[in-house]
Amino acid sequence: MLLFMTRRRWIADDSDGKTATLTGDQALHLARVLRAEPGQIFDVVANGFLHRAEVASVSEREVLFTLHEELETDSALPVHLLMAVFKFDHMEWGIEKATELGVARITPVIARRTEKHLSQAAAKRVERWRRIVREAAQQSRRSDVPMVDNPVMLKAALEEVSVQKKLLLAETEQENSLRAALADGAQSVALAIGPEGGWTPEEMKLFEAAEWNSVTLGPRILRAETAAITALAVCGALMSGVTDL
Ligand code: SAH
Repeated sequence: MLLFMTRRRWIADDSDGKTATLTGDQALHLARVLRAEPGQIFDVVANGFLHRAEVASVSEREVLFTLHEELETDSALPVHLLMAVFKFDHMEWGIEKATELGVARITPVIARRTEKHLSQAAAKRVERWRRIVREAAQQSRRSDVPMVDNPVMLKAALEEVSVQKKLLLAETEQENSLRAALADGAQSVALAIGPEGGWTPEEMKLFEAAEWNSVTLGPRILRAETAAITALAVCGALMSGVTDL
C-alpha cells in the first residue's frame, strides 16, 4: 500500500522532459508568497509524471525547474464520465467532486433536454470546467488532470467511448445495481448521467445500440451531481487496476 504524500504538487504549464516551467498564478504564488529560491526542491507534475524538481530560476511570471527523479504516483480511477449539461453551478460542483474522487475523463453531453440557453453557453464554458478540474486535481494531490472534452451531442459522445464496460445510470432501472455491474472486476468503465428532464426515447435507443447497460444507484431519484459523486465513490471502492481510456 502506498503512503500518500501530503506535499503539494505543482502542475507544470510546460515541460521538455528535463525542465519544467510554471507560469501565471502558480509562478506568482511561488515567487511572492512562498518566496521560492533557486536550489529548493518541490514536487512537480510534468507531462503526467510526478518528479522531484529543483528550482532553477524564479520570477513572478515564470518559475523554471530542473526535473530530478520520477516519483511513484497514484493514478486516476479508470472511469470516463459522460455528463449531460445541466445547471452550471450544480454541474461545476459535480465536476470538482468527480475530480477529487479520481475521474479520468469527463465528456459534457448536450442532451435533447438540456435547457437551450445552457446548450448554447456550454461551448464557452468548457475552459472554466478545465480550470476547475485542474485546481481540484492539484488540491486533491492528484498527479494527473482529468481530460475534459468539448461538449458534444450524445451520438458523437458515444462514438468516443472506448472502455470495457458502459453503464447508463438510470433512475428507472430497478434490478441491476452499479455494484453488481462492477462485481466482475472491470478494468475500465464509462458512466452516463442524464439531464434533469431525463434522456429522450431516441437517446435511449442510441445507448442501446452502443450496448450500454442500465444500472441503478437505489430507489431514490438523485440530482445529477449526487448521482455522479455516488457512482464514482462506488467505482472507487470496487475497482482497482488502471488502463488508458
Ligand atoms: N428524469 C428524472 C430526473 C433525472 S435525475 C425525474 O424523474 O425527474 C438526473 C440523472 O441522475 C439521471 O438521468 C440519472 O442518470 C441519474 N440518477 C438519478 N437518480 C438515480 C438513481 N436512483 N439511480 C441511477 N441513476 C440515477
